[in-house]
Amino acid sequence: HLECALCGQQYEADRLWNLCPDCGRPLLCRYDLEAAGKAVDPASFGGREPTMWRYRELLPLRDDEHKLTLGEGWTPLVHATRLGAEVDFEGLYIKDESLNPTGSFKARGLGMAVSRAREMGVTAVSIPSAGNAAGAMAAYAALGGIEAHVYMPKDVPHPFLAECRALGAEVTLVEGLITDCGKQAAAEGKERGWFDISTLKEPYRLAGKKTMGYELAEQLGWTMPDVIIYPTGGGTGLVGMWKAFDEMEQLGWIGGERPRMVTVQSEGCAPMVRAFHDGSEFAEPWVDAATLADGLRVPAAVGDFLILRALRESEGTALVVADEEMMADARLMGRTQGMFTCPEGAAPLSAFRHLRARGWVGEDETVVLFNTGSGLKYTHLWG
Ligand SMILES: *Cc1c(COP(=O)(O)O)cnc(C)c1O
Repeated sequence: HLECALCGQQYEADRLWNLCPDCGRPLLCRYDLEAAGKAVDPASFGGREPTMWRYRELLPLRDDEHKLTLGEGWTPLVHATRLGAEVDFEGLYIKDESLNPTGSFKARGLGMAVSRAREMGVTAVSIPSAGNAAGAMAAYAALGGIEAHVYMPKDVPHPFLAECRALGAEVTLVEGLITDCGKQAAAEGKERGWFDISTLKEPYRLAGKKTMGYELAEQLGWTMPDVIIYPTGGGTGLVGMWKAFDEMEQLGWIGGERPRMVTVQSEGCAPMVRAFHDGSEFAEPWVDAATLADGLRVPAAVGDFLILRALRESEGTALVVADEEMMADARLMGRTQGMFTCPEGAAPLSAFRHLRARGWVGEDETVVLFNTGSGLKYTHLWG
């Protein structure tokens, strides 16, 4: 079934829902973990397909007939030894999400959400996006033969626009930020009967992104790293992984140990960092959000309290980095590891440097940086 993450109200799974009709907050998928635990265990996964669908029993699609897949997930967890040597740290790993279809980890969430929407009879979907989510939604909608309507800020870099058009989506450019795109998409979609797939405004994108948590555990031999550093916009991936860890503990696949979760945002848009340090349960919207890391230019997140909870429960933290640091670290990741990353994907490395300098990360700890997307759609930043 579905359950509101804030008020706990339960909803039937086989109906279309956006936010909780009672309190307006995100709905989460709840599974019969006892049954799932009888059907699979860690030893089951060895021979399975190298995509996020290897965790089929823990995913919310009813029937495989509706599975839309482009090969998303099961990305490499790279032991970054050359980068590690450069920053004098042995236990540095990069989860390289840039290798996903459409070049970012948005493929996981949108692959799941579009599959599930189509399973429930949806024929047209809409999304406000800084770029990567739009491309991913357009790809899965194309594969599923349903209409895609995307709303992006007018200043979105051209490759995102080109991608959506090539994938057959109807693109609307909006004056303003992603929040303004969201308002327009919701208004037009309501009138025309499109299903809204905004971040955390339907339950299934999170269900796709949680597979990053299962993968990390499997790739580390069903153990947990000490620290995960995640470039946070709407927070789907961070909250999804936190949920996955909880599910895996209930399944008996891991123990009670957890990584310390770290949110990194840009100096120019850091609502979660501010709320974390203020001790707030919810975040105030950020005014005049500006950063060249488009995926982090999210002034307000409907799942704010879930991000903040995960950071606090894990004894993690939140910090900002400057855009120039991300760019310098993108260059370093390129030069040492052969990864062409977007600024968002380099932000965790910049955050790592700060945390290490503060002594927040221990010398013999294991740290996972999330490279969330490819640099190929951000070539305008490189001159
Ligand atoms: C969307 C996006 C993010 C932020 O992800 P959330 O899970 O929404 O916090 C980070 N990096 C890139 C490249 C993105 O596209």
